Amino acid sequence: MKRSERWGKRMLSALAAAAVLAATPVGAAGNGKSKGKPPASSHRYIEVQLLGINDFHGQLNVTRKVGGREVGRADYLAAYLKQREAENKNTLLVHAGDAVGASPPVSALLQDEPTIEVLNKLGFDVGTLGNHEFDEGVAEMLRLIHGGYHPATGDFAGADFPYVSANVIDKETKQPILPPYVIKRVNGMPIGFIGVTLTDTPSIVTPSGVAGVEFIDEATAINKAVRELKKKGVRTIVVLAHNPGASNPDGTNASGEIVDIAKTVDDEVDVIFAGHNHAYLNAVVDGKLLVQSYSYGTAFSDVDLKIDPRTKDVVAKQAEIVTTYHDGITPDPEIRALVEKYEAKVAPLVNQVVGTAAETITDEQNASGESALGNLIADAQRAAMNTDFAFMNPGGIRADIEQGEVTWGELYNVQPFNNQLVKMTLTGAQIRELLNQQWQPTKTRMLQISGLRYTWSASRPAGNKVVDIQLPDGTPLNPNGEYTVTVNSFLADGGDGFTVLTQGTNREVGPVDLDALVSYIRGLAQPFSARMEGRINRLP
Ligand SMILES: [Zn+2]
Repeated sequence: MKRSERWGKRMLSALAAAAVLAATPVGAAGNGKSKGKPPASSHRYIEVQLLGINDFHGQLNVTRKVGGREVGRADYLAAYLKQREAENKNTLLVHAGDAVGASPPVSALLQDEPTIEVLNKLGFDVGTLGNHEFDEGVAEMLRLIHGGYHPATGDFAGADFPYVSANVIDKETKQPILPPYVIKRVNGMPIGFIGVTLTDTPSIVTPSGVAGVEFIDEATAINKAVRELKKKGVRTIVVLAHNPGASNPDGTNASGEIVDIAKTVDDEVDVIFAGHNHAYLNAVVDGKLLVQSYSYGTAFSDVDLKIDPRTKDVVAKQAEIVTTYHDGITPDPEIRALVEKYEAKVAPLVNQVVGTAAETITDEQNASGESALGNLIADAQRAAMNTDFAFMNPGGIRADIEQGEVTWGELYNVQPFNNQLVKMTLTGAQIRELLNQQWQPTKTRMLQISGLRYTWSASRPAGNKVVDIQLPDGTPLNPNGEYTVTVNSFLADGGDGFTVLTQGTNREVGPVDLDALVSYIRGLAQPFSARMEGRINRLP
């Protein structure tokens, strides 16, 4: 179908989905230079399609559910992207960071090379760095991008597409570690892509991950790049920002860091792809179109631009966040074959035996709230971070450990979330508050614990259920004392309503929870076991 027809059809279908944004009128905010003579007719505009993902996290073979329907997986995402690409030859594929890191075994066990390979095969045009790209340090991140050797995987060619980053600076040279921007030409139209990563990154990745680099203010870095792009005659400017944002489905109520950035940056910026908080965002703020499409390949952003060839600037723009439902589309065979190749490759590692369980170890809690598997996991986390205590959210334990040989893959199923461990300091009083936060109005969540014992009373009111808290030697917890605590990153951010954990000081990020469990079990006398020990005691 002709491009002009397609635009009309898409407008209608997007309207039906109530997710459409009015096309920005000619000469919208900041595009003052495009004012002047009105264009003769709209079909002379160049129509460019940008397809974007964020926070993919290497979810090549992970199926998720949205509204009861299956979504996700690289082969289905690929089918959708190729379908949209076929509708407009002026298409560019982009990603806004966290493409790798916290990924499933099929990608993680091969240094996330499979994910880069999939993005290569799909013909991605440009990407930027999320915080997770730094998980294994700057050198490994740059190896994935530029290619190089890793002892676990051998030689790797790297990404076929450029990464841009305007605000990650080498501490010594004071220069960006990657090009701040690239210019892509589509049907003669130059389009500038600028990358930025949230400045909070050093506080949410392990310190060794960001050694040697610093993160400067996103808006300052973007504006510097915009100035350079404008000097080169580029008027269509897109920012790939690993910064959070969200909006209502109809584009109202846009919020998050990206909104502040949008308001601060030069009005020559037309579109900003956001990321990091895995949310829906499709809104216009200060004349800029902001999008984010959840995470894990469960959706992608389809941004349609109309560019006036005389001014080379955007005259209309709209976006749709498309969910990758499995029903109604055939998975892409080329990407499926690639994923299956990597699944076969990691099978020996996934099937590697880590230890032998003397008995089946379950997360079934007794009346007090303690479980054998919870004790094992909390012990592993406390050992990994060498702290006084550890607390594990019960919802993060997803499977039992069966009696007999325990494989790496089984342990992955027990702890599939790839949460990093966080060490922090809390007072005794804060630890008491933490335990009291287990009884919430809608749900009780019994934390699995290590390094302490306590009693709680069923007859006491919520907020004051905890009676006594003791150290292993029987001495009471000192409310004014300071204690080191390990939790996972989800809890450290106040997840599951454990808000007191956001007050923890002296934070330090450690290994992924699964790695802590694997190395702890490897270190135990075999066959290993874990039992309930009366760490949590319920009084009438
Ligand atoms: Zn992120």
